[in-house]
Amino acid sequence: MGVQSADVCSAAKMMQQVVAAVGTLFSVAYSGYFLTHLARHLTRGSRAAPPSGTKAASAPPLAPSACKEEAKEEEESSELPAVLGDEGEHPAVWEYNGEAPAVCDKDSGHLPVWDEDRGHPVAWEEEGEHLPAWEADRESPVAWKDDDEPAAFWEEDGEAAVLWDEDEEPPSALEEDTEAPCAAGSWAEHSDSSTALQPEGSREWSLMQLRNTVSVGEPAEKYLELEQIGQGAFGTVSKGLDRATGGEVAIKKMSLRGQNRERAVNEVVVLKDKKNPNIVNSLDSFLVDGDLWLVMEYMDGGTLQDVVRRTRMAEGEMAAVSQECLQGLDFLHSIRVIHRDLKSSNILLGMDGSVKLADFGLCAQLSPEQDQCSSMVGTAHWMAPEVVTSSPYGPKVDIWSFGIVTIEMVEGEPPYFQQTGAMARALIRQNGTPQLQEPRRLSALLRDFLECSLEPDEERRYSAQELLQHPFLSSAKPLSSLTPLITAAKQLREQRRT
Ligand code: ATP
Repeated sequence: MGVQSADVCSAAKMMQQVVAAVGTLFSVAYSGYFLTHLARHLTRGSRAAPPSGTKAASAPPLAPSACKEEAKEEEESSELPAVLGDEGEHPAVWEYNGEAPAVCDKDSGHLPVWDEDRGHPVAWEEEGEHLPAWEADRESPVAWKDDDEPAAFWEEDGEAAVLWDEDEEPPSALEEDTEAPCAAGSWAEHSDSSTALQPEGSREWSLMQLRNTVSVGEPAEKYLELEQIGQGAFGTVSKGLDRATGGEVAIKKMSLRGQNRERAVNEVVVLKDKKNPNIVNSLDSFLVDGDLWLVMEYMDGGTLQDVVRRTRMAEGEMAAVSQECLQGLDFLHSIRVIHRDLKSSNILLGMDGSVKLADFGLCAQLSPEQDQCSSMVGTAHWMAPEVVTSSPYGPKVDIWSFGIVTIEMVEGEPPYFQQTGAMARALIRQNGTPQLQEPRRLSALLRDFLECSLEPDEERRYSAQELLQHPFLSSAKPLSSLTPLITAAKQLREQRRT
């Protein structure tokens, strides 16, 4: 009995030592993270001020954290439409260079359009519906985009504006910069009131790329097409079955006319043969009567947008989704691809909780010769400050958009969602890091995670790899915990339909 109790005693002592050792190891590792993190924050503070003229970058970061709440009151005084125009009646919007308020058109209340080189407004934008095309000297707009009519666009050499070919679909927006394209691409307009702009690539080049990439033969021989499951701005998506394996596939059909062509090429060519578990991988592609059919992995859980809009996610579930998205982004960035249109509707889910990035129509392939882009591409509410200010940008624009997706998981929608795309861009430019509605509801780790991704200065913003080390992600629940959310979102959607 005495020996037994001595054994128990020494076993207990050993246990205590083990627990103490694990505890020490944990606290060393944890404080190691925080020391690195602290050093990073300090470095952020000590770095040179961002270039003047970029209001978003030069504004003090209005971080979505409780500790930044004190800044809110002060900041509210500069929020739109706090500054009044000459006669104090009309809200003013700060000019791009941040030096003087440019007053809204008194009669229409329309926002001004900025000539970013000259630093003052040159025309009034009609509630974000009409965008100007700029002359090569960027002195004045040469044409206004009209929804259905042919409009002017830039020739590939960027020298002159010409009229859009009437046989083609009109461009949905007009280019504001005349630099060489980062990747083949064309204009695109998003369903949610925002505008994506991408330079026109070479028609012949893109068709040649497509012909070299697609499979020969009839898709109907390999795939059985079932019901339509989605309708995007650029085509339809159907569910299908692989006749050989019986496996489910998604078939996206995109017209190759006009603006769609470059987008379709991007979807098929850029990620061909590049596979990753966090990317909706393409399986096959075909040219069918002037349309491009893209056969992809089928994701049976719908989009993350369905989940964020219809359910309330716990932080552990947000961390799980974030981890998967960041792994996908880390993969894309490692092969020098920028997604450029990351948002919850472009993140697809499987019923098992798998999370994959989709829709590569606007992506850009960087190269050693060209490691930055400058075209205003993406969906307004998710655009990074450097995109809305037409500054040169790199892969970290995706990290900003990912931060906005995280806000979607918290609040159900991106910041400024009630505003038009043009107003959202103006607010991103003015405010930099957006404010959260109820920061106190979030853990300190999540607020810090958001700060790291929604840092207005691209250089100080974390990369996907750095964010993957953030301790917020250690709270990630298993992916299977997403299944009840996905099921609930599906049921609510069905109920709304009936
Ligand atoms: P946007 O207007 O945002 O650019 P889009 O035209 O790119 O939209 P699509 O990629 O065509 O949108 O997708 C339309 C819908 O089809 C998606 O919202 C999704 O519900 C569904 N979908 C797309 N790809 C798949 C897939 N691989 N598996 C299952 N469903 C899919």
